Amino acid sequence: MENVIIIGTGCAGWTAAIYTARANLRPLVISGTQPGGQLTTTTEVENFPGFPEGVMGPDLMMRMQQQAEKFGTRVEYAQIDAVEKQADGSFVLKSSGTDYRARAVIVATGASPRHLGLPNESSLIGRGLTSCATCDGAFYRDVPVAVIGGGDSACEEANFLTRFASKVYLIHRRDELRASKIMADRVLANPKIEPVWDSVVTAYLTNEKGEMRAAAVKNLKTGAESELALDCVFVAIGHVPNTAFLAGTGIDLDESGYIVLKKGGQTNIEGLFAAGDVADHVYRQAITAAGNGCQAALDAERYLADLGVE
Ligand code: NAP
Repeated sequence: MENVIIIGTGCAGWTAAIYTARANLRPLVISGTQPGGQLTTTTEVENFPGFPEGVMGPDLMMRMQQQAEKFGTRVEYAQIDAVEKQADGSFVLKSSGTDYRARAVIVATGASPRHLGLPNESSLIGRGLTSCATCDGAFYRDVPVAVIGGGDSACEEANFLTRFASKVYLIHRRDELRASKIMADRVLANPKIEPVWDSVVTAYLTNEKGEMRAAAVKNLKTGAESELALDCVFVAIGHVPNTAFLAGTGIDLDESGYIVLKKGGQTNIEGLFAAGDVADHVYRQAITAAGNGCQAALDAERYLADLGVE
């Protein structure tokens, strides 16, 4: 039986691991399909305190992992499909391979990119539809591409893509960006980015090989419909929290599926804690996720101390 299992390897997960490891709890971290979380799909992080020159997202995550492992954190790669509370108060974490058992669990599974829900989406992933400019941008050199969304992610992706693409359409459903002023100003000043305001994508159009060739776009104010010829669409319209595997635990979720915390990192279930984007649809920053990871770890430490775990 483990003292504490942390599910997820983003900022929240690694910070929880650093704290629980330094408290001699020998945490086990379960890393899922996207080790390192969302920061591994970003470029430079300019707002994480302590890095005045900025730091690359994947580097920051690697440093957090090294710091956690230095204090005795162990890592296993598995997909947790379900969590079950046992009569003795412990938890069984079910995966297709091994089942894991722990006295306390910290859920730090983050959130995954949202898609529009258009019919041919799944067949287009990797053939001109993606949510990760850092991963796929370099494949689209000297061709037109589009980013959907008006937040910081969309602006960051659009700016990054101008390194490769001949032109970047920024398709946004309103005529004002949600992004922070500094990001919005950069986008609006970039001559390679063409905003397509008040518009939504109604269909992804493909060539004879089933690859993206155009986006059908509708202007919500005028009703006008048009086609934008492009090779790739980068979707940046927010995220969906990764909480499906908690169905059946009785954990409190809000209407969008985010975990509702009672206080600090405590959920409504004793011994089950949560941290980071999986429980935060408001701030969603690397630094707030790290702070949440610390809170969940301290709450878990107190819970285990009350159980008499040394
Ligand atoms: P976000 O701020 O929630 O923005 C999502 C964007 O997608 C919004 O512009 C929204 O339009 C649009 N959208 C949502 N659903 C849509 C739909 N079905 N169809 C069309 N458009 C849709 O998400 P985010 O940009 O991923 O940012 C998340 C958080 O991470 C934010 O707190 C952000 O500040 C932070 N972040 C920070 C950085 C940075 O500082 N370097 C980088 C990336 C993200 P509306 O505006 O009309 O709602």
